[in-house]
Amino acid sequence: MRGELNQLCNPGHQLYRIVQHPRVLDKSIRELTMQRVTIAPDQLHQQQISLTDAQIHYLQRVLRLKVGDRFIALDGQGQGWVAVLEANAYQATVLAVWQMDLELPIRLQLIIAMPKTGMDDMVRQTTELGVTTIQPVVSDRTLLKPSAKKIERWRRIAQEAMEQSERQCVPVIHEPVSLVVGLAQTPADYQWLCVARQPTDCPAPLLLSELLAQSLFQPSSEVDVTKSQTAKPQTAKPQAFKTITLAIGPEGGWSKSEVERAIALNYRPVSLGPRILRTVTAPLAAIAIIAAVMDHQKSTL
Ligand code: SAM
Repeated sequence: MRGELNQLCNPGHQLYRIVQHPRVLDKSIRELTMQRVTIAPDQLHQQQISLTDAQIHYLQRVLRLKVGDRFIALDGQGQGWVAVLEANAYQATVLAVWQMDLELPIRLQLIIAMPKTGMDDMVRQTTELGVTTIQPVVSDRTLLKPSAKKIERWRRIAQEAMEQSERQCVPVIHEPVSLVVGLAQTPADYQWLCVARQPTDCPAPLLLSELLAQSLFQPSSEVDVTKSQTAKPQTAKPQAFKTITLAIGPEGGWSKSEVERAIALNYRPVSLGPRILRTVTAPLAAIAIIAAVMDHQKSTL
């Protein structure tokens, strides 16, 4: 059976497929889900992974793995391998291809007018919930001007959160741009502008009502989002999934002209309910609603 699917097992509701090498099948597969490291493409040569100092420290000092122990190496783009630590601390050997599909069956692009505080937590938590890309934007009322170091920090947080939440794909954190550029460069099948306050004579629909009215699982034929992104696609089959873009305003909310501009670019205003949420809370509420609908639809297929 070498080179083919050797074992299919289902601990809980998660699907694990261990491919190629029988040696991995004698140990608890649950155990394999716990130790994860994201590697760069140039770290993998044939069956050998060259580990960095930071990864060795994490595996051996933090996780206390020893020679012969196994861990999961992820490329952050949807691929993973079961690997074993070698006597040469800088080397690990790939034992098997590892696959597990916990990603949302949709691409979820978040546009966020950067809040003054709380971006770290927002990046961590939206990653846990399944965001695909985060586009920080500068809007009329944005106060934060992040340094390059801050943006690098958000990317590290996203990678750690991906490993912690056992996702396979690390969200892309784009460089900040103006709101208008951000809105225009993240086209999607569904484009929603979250608005905290609406005119009483014309209230925005609830995001949940909008979602329930859609067939989110159908393959997208309208927009090839991968062509409009500078970053690599983040899922194994990105074109097969529909795309949602969600835009969240700053502490002071959207200005009137920003709302008009977004509507002109085919964004639909939506509500997350009558309570006013902080800029860092609103994306969590919105993505949790989307993930719940997607997970429910997936479970009933
Ligand atoms: N003072 C602002 C106002 O009156 O619009 C409140 C802005 S709120 C703190 C920050 C952002 O979170 C809003 O621009 C919106 O995108 C989002 N938000 C907060 N609560 C929301 C809700 N109930 N429905 C939809 N979006 C909401």
